[in-house]
Amino acid sequence: MATAEIITIGNELLSGRTIDSNAAAAAKVLTELGIAVFRRLSVGDDVPLIALALRDAASRADVVIVSGGLGPTSDDLTAAAAAEAFGQELRLLPEAEAHVRNAFARRNLPMAAVNLKQAVLPAAAAVLGNPSGTAPAFTMEHGSSLLVFLPGVPHELEALLRERVGPLLRNRFSSQPRPSVTLRLFGIGESMLAELLGRLLPPPPWLTLSYLPHFPDLSLILSAREPADQPRLEHHVAKTEALLGHVVYARGETTLPQVVIDMLQREQATVALAESCTGGLVAKLLTDISGSSCCVESGAVTYSNAAKTRMLGVPADVIATYGAVSDPVARLMAEGARTRAETTYGIGITGIAGPSGGTPEKPVGTVFISLAAPEETYVLAFTNNFPTRSAIRYMAAFRALSALLQHLKTGAPWIVSPTTADRSATSTS
Ligand code: ATP
Ligand code: MG
Repeated sequence: MATAEIITIGNELLSGRTIDSNAAAAAKVLTELGIAVFRRLSVGDDVPLIALALRDAASRADVVIVSGGLGPTSDDLTAAAAAEAFGQELRLLPEAEAHVRNAFARRNLPMAAVNLKQAVLPAAAAVLGNPSGTAPAFTMEHGSSLLVFLPGVPHELEALLRERVGPLLRNRFSSQPRPSVTLRLFGIGESMLAELLGRLLPPPPWLTLSYLPHFPDLSLILSAREPADQPRLEHHVAKTEALLGHVVYARGETTLPQVVIDMLQREQATVALAESCTGGLVAKLLTDISGSSCCVESGAVTYSNAAKTRMLGVPADVIATYGAVSDPVARLMAEGARTRAETTYGIGITGIAGPSGGTPEKPVGTVFISLAAPEETYVLAFTNNFPTRSAIRYMAAFRALSALLQHLKTGAPWIVSPTTADRSATSTS
């Protein structure tokens, strides 16, 4: 497999004033081409340092993508550094000069003499041009390595990556993307997952596992080395899914709310929400999905005790006896929402999002989620030990969505898995 390194140039990248989006854009294109990026480096505007980085990268990688410093100003030093790195003279290259003159003529702009500096390149450079800017991109060969020099302006760099660099590299390496599969998981943490897989399904040498948490859920990316690995990758993914059971809620680029809406639609089921501590977050997550009107009937934010009674019919004496954050109240909220909206499902959520309001019996993070299904009402009780109010609310919302999805899939709201059973269910009625 061909290898690549990326060097981005500019003091503004080192001071934190500019976020290095060019490195990410280049990495994405290389990865899609099946070229393995194994190092990214940012260097300040300094000829000896840039030259050192170029030589170093070219001694290892098949491709070196360089961004920035091709402009006409005194801090644009990349061509000078490239010439120094590979022992070449700087020359005004006719093809580059034509590019610069044309770029100004096309825009009807007068050209400052200093702009010709952009056409002064290492003698052996091959000019790539620049469809959307004045500084011409160029390439150089060193040993078996190809160096590609691109302008720093992000939209110019992206156009060049797409239109010139992509085809060039595809030709040169006739590479194919590495086969990979993304699994979306909820109900297990990154460390537990790594531990579990390491123990029960250690990755074979041809397989790379990447853990990508995006709270409250996470992605597990399984990548093989080459296209011929596709069948054994498929086999390993199937074993992973069997091991993790319903902790895996989907394959590919999707989200839990999207999967819930798809599943509700498939089952022609509807849902009504009664939210206290999540303040409408479940309703927001579901209605963010286009087409959610198929299945989301209503959502009530019943924050006060009185609202729980008035809007959902939760008897005041139940709240007085058990407290607003309790199993019976969650249950009656879910049932009240379902009965009043005449939906397939009702969801009730009540909890303590903090940071204040906790007690020894019901600490911050205590949440009761109830799912009223046609045949039965379930309550899941748990304490989220997350540091912020927002994290507690997001985790509660995802738990509720997960409970609904599990019921749609299996007829029970908890995650059913041979190794990672959700033991937080306290009661059913
Ligand atoms: P120009 O001809 O415009 O001078 P250049 O090739 O010399 O182009 P730079 O001067 O390094 O590029 O940067 C031009 C602009 O692009 C600046 O606004 C800079 O902040 C931005 N830029 C440079 N490098 C990056 C990067 N790695 N990621 C995102 N933006 C960048
Ligand atoms: Mg510049």
